[in-house]
Amino acid sequence: MDDCLFCRIARGEIPSNKLYEDDELLAFYDIAPQAPVHFLVIPKQHIESCGDVDAGNSAIVAKAFELIARLTRENGIKSFRVVSNCGEEAGQSVSHLHFHVLAGRSLAWPPG
Ligand code: 5GP
Ligand code: ZN
Repeated sequence: MDDCLFCRIARGEIPSNKLYEDDELLAFYDIAPQAPVHFLVIPKQHIESCGDVDAGNSAIVAKAFELIARLTRENGIKSFRVVSNCGEEAGQSVSHLHFHVLAGRSLAWPPG
């Protein structure tokens, strides 16, 4: 997607503070952190949101969760929250599937 913000970050056209990158996935710190630790994990391929995961692309979602487990483990993060907002009313502002990883403070439940 030419004009998708996270596709552009994935292609390196817009700089990001990267935590991890391979051919399929990118992890980078959120520009407006909502917790002391706040990074995003995205597939490089454009998937709009959790609502567009299907049998043809779900393998990358599994890999994203493997990466989240690895990055949190390697960074000594024992307690964290994974969030994916799907749709405008749920707070999705970038229409490219991403998983927020939040940690480093007490997180309220239920979320707002
Ligand atoms: P959403 O609101 O869709 O759940 O999450 C989008 C996230 O992307 C927000 O937390 C927002 O701060 C972050 N974000 C928006 N633009 C940029 C950017 O240019 N760089 C980075 N690193 N994060 C961004
Ligand atoms: Zn995209």
